[in-house]
Amino acid sequence: ASGKSTTAKGVSEKLGITHLDTGAMYRAVTWEIIEFDIDVSDKNIVEKYLSTVKMYFDSSNDIFINGRNVFKKIRKSKISSKVSEISAIPKIRKKMVEIQRDIGSRGDCVLEGRDIGTVVFPNADFKFFIIASDEARANRRLDDLIKVGDKNPGDFKIVLEELILRDHKDSTRDHSPLKKADDALEIDTTHLSIYE
Ligand code: C5P
Repeated sequence: ASGKSTTAKGVSEKLGITHLDTGAMYRAVTWEIIEFDIDVSDKNIVEKYLSTVKMYFDSSNDIFINGRNVFKKIRKSKISSKVSEISAIPKIRKKMVEIQRDIGSRGDCVLEGRDIGTVVFPNADFKFFIIASDEARANRRLDDLIKVGDKNPGDFKIVLEELILRDHKDSTRDHSPLKKADDALEIDTTHLSIYE
């Protein structure tokens, strides 16, 4: 909700190049793990599961995991509250990064995600680190969640708390934590429109 997905989509459309939403990938895996009740505390089970994972995006950028279109399912609060725990698992990150590097190296691409400029493509031509105040992000996230029927207009405080908690988990994990690459240009979107 810093505006990164909307901006990445807009820029990729303007340039006519691929847009890769890596957060959607971690969300899709989280969806399957919940759906199939996969025990992530067991390394062998995680490894076996990952060997079966096939993920792709169709031409309208809907995400498919193992043949299922999960585009609409992965934005729900149930996924948001579990995704940080799942994305902190090194084997899962390794698999996602492999897929991201494969897609990203096929041609020009706008990739968005927490470790793109630091880990996935440290030599990217252009890096932007997009931020916004917690309040602005919570308001935007709430709007999105109301649209998918997952929250009510009065749920601002809950959304804000969930967002702060997820940021904390993503920024303090051992592997590929959320942080700005030294050579990234920082953009604060708190008071900016999407067009700006
Ligand atoms: O960007 P979005 O909010 O959809 O990302 C969902 C979650 O996926 C993040 O909170 C983070 O835990 C994880 N993620 C990640 N690395 C990325 C992109 C997302 O760990 N490159």
